[in-house]
Amino acid sequence: MFKQNPQRLKKKADQAGARPTHAMSNQNTPPGPQQQRPNGGPPDGAQQPPRNTGGSWALRIAIIAVIALLAYNFYQYFTNSNAPANTSVSYSFFLQQLSNNNVDTAIVQNGTVTGTFKVPQTYPAGSSTKVTNYQTYEIGGNDPTLESQLIDHNVSFDSKPPDQGNQWLMIIVEFVLPTVLIIGVFLFFTRRAAQSQQNIFNFGRSRAKLIMEDRPSTTFNDVAGVDEAKADLVEIVDFLKSPQKFQRLGGRIPRGVLLVGPPGTGKTLLARAVAGEAQVPFFSMSGSEFVEVLVGVGASRVRDLFDQAKRASPSIIFIDEIDAVGRQRGTSLTTNDEREQTLNQLLVEMDGFESHQAVVVIAATNRPDGLDQALLRPGRFDRRVTVDRPDWKGRMAILAIHSRSVPLSSDVDLQTLARLTPGMVGADLANLVNEAALLAARRNLDKVTMKNFEEALDKIQLGAERPLVLTEDDLRIVAVHEGGHALVGLLSEHSDPVTKVTIVPRGQALGVTMATPLDDRYNYSKEYLFTRIMFALGGRGAEDVALGSITTGAENDFQQATGIARQMVTRWGMSERVGLISFSDRPSPFTGMMDSGGKEYSEETAKAIDEEVHRIIEDAYSKVKTLLSTHRATLDRIAQELRKNEILNADQLRAILIATGAIDAATAHAQENGGASLS
Ligand code: ADP
Ligand code: ZN
Ligand code: MG
Repeated sequence: MFKQNPQRLKKKADQAGARPTHAMSNQNTPPGPQQQRPNGGPPDGAQQPPRNTGGSWALRIAIIAVIALLAYNFYQYFTNSNAPANTSVSYSFFLQQLSNNNVDTAIVQNGTVTGTFKVPQTYPAGSSTKVTNYQTYEIGGNDPTLESQLIDHNVSFDSKPPDQGNQWLMIIVEFVLPTVLIIGVFLFFTRRAAQSQQNIFNFGRSRAKLIMEDRPSTTFNDVAGVDEAKADLVEIVDFLKSPQKFQRLGGRIPRGVLLVGPPGTGKTLLARAVAGEAQVPFFSMSGSEFVEVLVGVGASRVRDLFDQAKRASPSIIFIDEIDAVGRQRGTSLTTNDEREQTLNQLLVEMDGFESHQAVVVIAATNRPDGLDQALLRPGRFDRRVTVDRPDWKGRMAILAIHSRSVPLSSDVDLQTLARLTPGMVGADLANLVNEAALLAARRNLDKVTMKNFEEALDKIQLGAERPLVLTEDDLRIVAVHEGGHALVGLLSEHSDPVTKVTIVPRGQALGVTMATPLDDRYNYSKEYLFTRIMFALGGRGAEDVALGSITTGAENDFQQATGIARQMVTRWGMSERVGLISFSDRPSPFTGMMDSGGKEYSEETAKAIDEEVHRIIEDAYSKVKTLLSTHRATLDRIAQELRKNEILNADQLRAILIATGAIDAATAHAQENGGASLS
C-alpha cells in the first residue's frame, strides 16, 4: 500500500494487502420486549421473591396471633390477681395447721400443697398477714405420710398427677412463642423498610430481558459455520427439553457453558438458538451492565436475574461479555470492589441451584484467559465451547443464511464470495450481504448482483472510495509503488495470490495491493513469512528501482515487515543465531494474541534480536530489489496500466506478466491450478 502523507492517519487498509482485518462486528443484543415489572403492590423482594405474595398474609396472621396471645395473657394475669392470692407457707407450718385440724381443703400436686385454712392464720409469725389460701413451698419429693395424715384429720383432698408437660406447654405458649413472633415481626418490618428504600431508587432492579411468551424463535438453522459448537450445545438443548429424563438417573446437570470466540462469530446467536430450540425462556444480561452504576447494585442484579430464571425454570441465563465481571480478582492495583462483589454473587448463585432447577447458564467472552479460576471450577462454567471463525464452507453457509430474504441475481456465486472473505466472521458476512443489498437498492436494481457484492466487499475491506485529486506525479509514484508490491507477490512462489491492485484512494490508503490467501491459513512457513516481508517491501523497492527516489508512502509497509521479522526471531524460533526460544508475547498481526509486556531477556540478547531482525529485512529488501530490477520492464508496464485503468484484477495482471515475458503462459496456467489446489 501507499500511505497518504503527511497526515498521520491510522493504517487500516494495508493489512488488506494480505488479510482483510476489518471486523465489522455489531454486538447485537437480542431484540425482545423488555419486561416491565408491575408497579405498586407489595415490593417484591430481591431476596425472597417467591414468598412475596404470601408474605402479607403471613404477616397478618402473625399479628393476629400475637394480639390474641397477649390478650390471653392479660386475661390470665388479671383473673389471677382478682382471685385471692395464695400465700406461700412452709411445709412444716402446713403440717402444724393440719395437726391443729385447721386445714379445710388441700390439693397435692407437683410436691406442693395448695388449699384453704379454716381459720385464717398469721404467717409468718409476728407479721400482720393473715393467710387463708395457702401454698406450701415445694418439699422436693413426696411426703409418703401426707395422705394418711390428711385422712386422719378428715381433710377433703385431691391429688393430681404431676403436670410437667403441661407446664412446658404453658412456658412455650406464654413466653417463647410471643418472643419468637415479636422478633419475627420486627425482622419483617426492618427488611421491608430496607427494601422500600431500595425501591425508591430502583437500582437493584434487574434489567434482564425476559421473553415470556415470545421466546427466541432463533434455531440452529440460523447459525452456520460453527458446527462443532452446535454439536456441543445439542446436549444442552436435550437437557432443557426434558430435564427429568436426565435427572432420573442422578446425572449431573450441565450448569454453565462458556462460549469462547472472537467478536461477531455468533455467540449470542448460538445462545439464543439454544433457547429457541429448547423452547425455554431466555434471560440475558451483559457483563458490563452488571458493573454499571453503584456499589452493590451489580450483586443484586445478579441475584435478581437468577431468581427470575429459577422461577421460569427450565430456562437459560445468558451473560454476555462475562470478562467484564469475571476477571481475576485482586490482580489489578486499583481493586474494584464492586466488580468483585458482583463476581462473588455470581459464584454464589452458580452454586445455589437446587437439583430440580433446570437452569443453564451460558456465558460468552472473547478473552477467556483472564477469567477468574473460580468461575471455571466444576459445577460452574466447566464446559467450554469454542466458537471459531468460519472456514470458507462455513462462510458460504452463513452468506446463504443471510441472503435468504434477499433476491439474488443469477450471477451471484456465494462460493466465490466465501473464498474472497477469509478471516471474516458471521457478523461481517451479515454486514456484507446488507451492504450489497443497499448498493443494489441505491441503483434501483431488482436483484443484488455479484458486482454489488464486490463493491460492498471493497467498501468494507478498504473503506469507501473517496474523491481525492492527486497530482500527476503523485499518481505515478503510487502506481509504481503498488506495482512493486504486486510484482513481488506475483513472482514469489510462496506468496498469497495477488487478486487486485488499485490506485483508487480508499479510506486512508492512496493505493492498495491485495493478496488474498485462497483459504484461511492456520500455520505459517518460514518461506511464507519471508515472502510476506518481501511483499511489504515491494513498494519501496519499486520506488527505489524505477524512480530513483523514495517517499514516505511506505511507512505501514515497514511496520508490517518489521513486525513479521521480529516475530520470526522472538516467537517462532526462525533465526538460527537467536535460537529456538520464545522471548515475547507481542501481539501477532495474524492471530491478534495478547501481549504480556515486559522484556525477559538480557541486553545482549536484545541486541542479537535487533541484529537478526535487521538482517532479515536487509536480506528481503536486497532480494526485492534484484527481483524488480530483473523485471523492470514488467514493473513499468504494470504501473502504466494502473495509471490507465486504476484497477487491475488477477487476470489482467497475469496477462501483463505473460505479455512482458516475466512468466510464460504454461507457468501461469500451472500457477493458477496449483493455487486452486491449495484449498
Ligand atoms: P457475538 O455474540 O459472537 O459477538 P453475535 O451472535 O452477536 O456475535 O453475531 C452478530 C450477528 O452476526 C448475528 O445476529 C448474526 O446475524 C450474524 N452472525 C454471526 N455469526 C453467525 C453465524 N455463525 N451464522 C449466522 N449468522 C451469524
Ligand atoms: Zn505499500
Ligand atoms: Mg454477542
